Amino acid sequence: MELDLGPEIAQFRADIRAWITTHAPDGLAELADWNTLITTGGYGYGRRTAATQHEAYRQWEAELLAARLICPQWPEQFGGQGMDAVRVAVFNEELDSAGVPRVNRGMGESLVGPSVIVHGTDEQRAAFLPRIVSGEDVYCQGFSEPGTGSDLAGLQTKGVVDGDEIVITGQKLWTSGAARANKMFVLCRTDPDAEKHAGISFVLIDFTDPAVSYQPVRQMSGAAEFCEDFLDGVRAPLFNVIGGLNNGWRVAMTTLGYERGGSASTLHLGYEREFWELAQTARKRGVSADPLVRQQLAWAYSQVQLMRFSGLRTLAGLAEGRQPGPEASISKLFWSEYHKRLGEIAIGIEGTDGLIRPDGDGYPTTYWQNVFLSSRAGTIYSGTSEIQRNIIAERALKLPREPRPTANGASR
Ligand SMILES: Cc1cc2nc3c(=O)[nH]c(=O)nc-3n(C[C@H](O)[C@H](O)[C@H](O)COP(=O)(O)OP(=O)(O)OC[C@H]3O[C@@H](n4cnc5c(N)ncnc54)[C@H](O)[C@@H]3O)c2cc1C
Repeated sequence: MELDLGPEIAQFRADIRAWITTHAPDGLAELADWNTLITTGGYGYGRRTAATQHEAYRQWEAELLAARLICPQWPEQFGGQGMDAVRVAVFNEELDSAGVPRVNRGMGESLVGPSVIVHGTDEQRAAFLPRIVSGEDVYCQGFSEPGTGSDLAGLQTKGVVDGDEIVITGQKLWTSGAARANKMFVLCRTDPDAEKHAGISFVLIDFTDPAVSYQPVRQMSGAAEFCEDFLDGVRAPLFNVIGGLNNGWRVAMTTLGYERGGSASTLHLGYEREFWELAQTARKRGVSADPLVRQQLAWAYSQVQLMRFSGLRTLAGLAEGRQPGPEASISKLFWSEYHKRLGEIAIGIEGTDGLIRPDGDGYPTTYWQNVFLSSRAGTIYSGTSEIQRNIIAERALKLPREPRPTANGASR
């Protein structure tokens, strides 16, 4: 089923398709499997990362940059095209069907940019956004701490104002992509006497500062994609505080909304590709006629279709000017739980081979072993499944709030 998004969008789709055909360099699509699902650091990630060093990719990146098609959803004065969400979804679909990559700027594009656009001043937007579009600034997210994940507002990292600077001291944990970043967006406590959610600030810091150190933390998939970081008196100008001092919680909520919502309307594309890979694996292994495997594959296919239709509903809402609300949590819960179950199904289809890792240095895994192991992380990062269920129950369904613990351990 295709959603009729009207003649303007049909024209936009035709234009963008023609643009991709004219500007995508020869051989780019063949360099890597650009649009299959690959978890960062996992199977296939190395090949895709290597392909981004290729001349054809560099040329594509330059073409996209010149056409304002990197961060195209951002306002024109900051390097984008001011594309609305429907056009962004169409753009993503067309890149996917042409087999060429969407050059994205990671957390800078998906998390920092939107937060600066909503809460920053004009001067901050002008200072921080173009450097994300150009690729000069690569951000990592300094929210979680050793004792603070779901209960983010309990964070302990301190920020002390010293003249026109803020000095930040503390430890962050599970920081994805820290080793590739030159900037970090940090939550720190700037008013220790204020109520828990007040007194927090959202600050952009230089992650290459000598007062920052970090070391990798290995995951069960074998990848060491995230790090623990030590901030030992890192200084940043007060200009880098987004949304005002002690107002960081509001900014963080905007960030998390974008993190959980992601691109809900085109999410199914990668999962659909992956589903057909698994169906092919089942055929190759001679188990595609097994009634249990057929039932599992039918379940998986129906889940991907549910994602697709739910994406179309989101898209239809956006086309009518409605902003997504708690759908962000529904989408996050749905894809992460689906993917965890799919990993289990895949390992079952691989049979005893699924238990044997390939030879090689480090901790190599097959594609499906990596899905099995790393999909578990999907139910933890960007807010655990339990937290998403709480949000859906309390904010979407308006059910009574779960009892919160009091200082003496009782519930209220
Ligand atoms: C692969 C990966 C990448 C990550 N990348 C980053 C990153 O780049 N930057 C960053 O800042 N963080 C990152 N994180 C951290 C992530 O945000 C936290 O792990 C997550 O918020 C959970 O926090 P926690 O690990 O402290 O678990 P906890 O909060 O201690 O939770 C432990 C268990 O208790 C449950 N629980 C907690 N509170 C409730 C409640 N109120 N109701 C019901 N159940 C509850 C949880 O669901 C979970 O099952 C990443 C995590 C992973 C796995």
